Amino acid sequence: MVKDKQNLIYLDHASTTYIRDEVYEAMKPYLTNNFGNPSSIYTIAQQSRIAIDQSREKIAKILNCRPSEIIFTSGGTESDNSSIYSTAIAQMNIGKHIITSSIEHHAVLNACEFLEENLDFTVTYLPVNNQGIINLESLKSQLTPKTTIVSIMLANNEIGTIQPIKEISKIIKDYAKNNNTRILIHTDAVQAPGYINLDVKDLDVDLLSLSSHKFYGPKGCGILYVKRGTPFTPISVGGSQERQRRAGTENVSGIVGTAKALELAELERTEITKKITNLRNKLISGVLNNIEKVTLNGDPINRLANNANFSFQDIEGESILLSLDLEGIAASSGSACTSASLEPSHVLKSIGLTDEIAQSSVRMTLGKNTTEEEIDLVLDTLPKIVTRLRSMPTLSNVL
Ligand code: PLP
Repeated sequence: MVKDKQNLIYLDHASTTYIRDEVYEAMKPYLTNNFGNPSSIYTIAQQSRIAIDQSREKIAKILNCRPSEIIFTSGGTESDNSSIYSTAIAQMNIGKHIITSSIEHHAVLNACEFLEENLDFTVTYLPVNNQGIINLESLKSQLTPKTTIVSIMLANNEIGTIQPIKEISKIIKDYAKNNNTRILIHTDAVQAPGYINLDVKDLDVDLLSLSSHKFYGPKGCGILYVKRGTPFTPISVGGSQERQRRAGTENVSGIVGTAKALELAELERTEITKKITNLRNKLISGVLNNIEKVTLNGDPINRLANNANFSFQDIEGESILLSLDLEGIAASSGSACTSASLEPSHVLKSIGLTDEIAQSSVRMTLGKNTTEEEIDLVLDTLPKIVTRLRSMPTLSNVL
């Protein structure tokens, strides 16, 4: 297994995961001998077609939807972009108002901004409380007859907060019914597999995004659920793949790997969630009890089982990460996509943190193979790092 080979304590599973062995084995034939283009008619090509069809069926079962409602994409970003663009453009004649939240991933936020800047859409960015939950009354008050899409993530990638999607959906559907309109609900569920039930009927959503590399599948592969009858203008055009909703030769090995990974994540969900919750709680209480001037960011209860996000007053999160790395511990500040930027995280700012506190934050996300020994080692190492960094002169206290 990758983790053992690298001798690493990997606590950045929200950023990405390695491909698990069973997934790699399932993908292998489609990376080598079974290379046929699924759109061709000869036997080797039809083997690829069958593999895609079977993968779609497996995923549909987990999502409790029809296989035809699944579109394979290149990952979470494309699924999110397509959810916004494809439905916004398809309904432009009805209205140009979108509602989202201030803590969405940039794959949603930047798509909304693009529509605002280039196609005269109006976007409402709902604020969240200091634990990262949106206010349902505020959502109610922002719905208008011109609203066509509401996009609210199922679980946040930085602070792990889980939104009450079912309640959100009910509010939207009730409003639409009473006002004789149609409002679609999209949820970015990229961080949810393996921890939260993905039944789209139970969640009552019209669109749902997933990304394989977050659940031990391959990078560059994703899923977009689109409920039958949803107005949808494809953003990728060309061939007629994916029922003309996403053109391009299918990533057969990636699709097979995605289905296998999701199947296993769902199969192990209850057991792994229980194990990880216990370890994560040990990590949180160990950090809060043994380190001074530290706070936990996000909702203490409504949060992903694997997520812990802390602010360590008076220290740069980046310095902690570098020190952890020297000890063989991989963690992250903010989301992987923005952690290279100097800007404090938009999520941490949205929950009311100052720039300084936001920049003193570290996210640790556990995975299915995280062990108690690893957490013990982190709990032994982290307080020493924090004490050392706090004792070092900083620019502000030297000047
Ligand atoms: N949405 C969320 C919540 C994410 O955490 C991520 C990735 O970190 C994405 C979307 C983008 O997914 P991908 O990296 O597969 O494009």
